Amino acid sequence: MHLTKNFYLDEMLTSQSAVRLGFDEQFTPDQAVVDNLRALCQNVLQPLRDGLQRAILTSSGYRCPRVNQAINGAPNSQHVFGQAADIKVGHLTTEQLYQRIKNSNLVFDQLIQEFDRWVHVSYNPNIAANRRQCLRAVKVDGKTKYLPG
Ligand SMILES: [Zn+2]
Repeated sequence: MHLTKNFYLDEMLTSQSAVRLGFDEQFTPDQAVVDNLRALCQNVLQPLRDGLQRAILTSSGYRCPRVNQAINGAPNSQHVFGQAADIKVGHLTTEQLYQRIKNSNLVFDQLIQEFDRWVHVSYNPNIAANRRQCLRAVKVDGKTKYLPG
């Protein structure tokens, strides 16, 4: 199922962990999750792709609660609501992609440059004003710290 022109529900549900662990509910999210994923694609991912004119690789979109727990995701992670995606773009470094989104006019809730490996971006259609909060996740003594970015 298309969510927008270039984004599919199926890719937003991809989870190797869910397959390996047999968490089948990952692949049958409720309608609210689908609606949130569509809003994320409509408001952030599709306009970003249109601007870049390159494919966006999504490594994690929706996470059912059991998958989120299994990978030690934050309990209140926006991934659990279908409001976030972890992305890369082939020809850009993580920092370049982060700066591109940060310096764009896109409305997003949270943007996190994660460990120079991927960019987390979220959108919440259920609040009046998305925060456009920009952070960097880094490891300090083995613990994740979020720094203003
Ligand atoms: Zn994420």
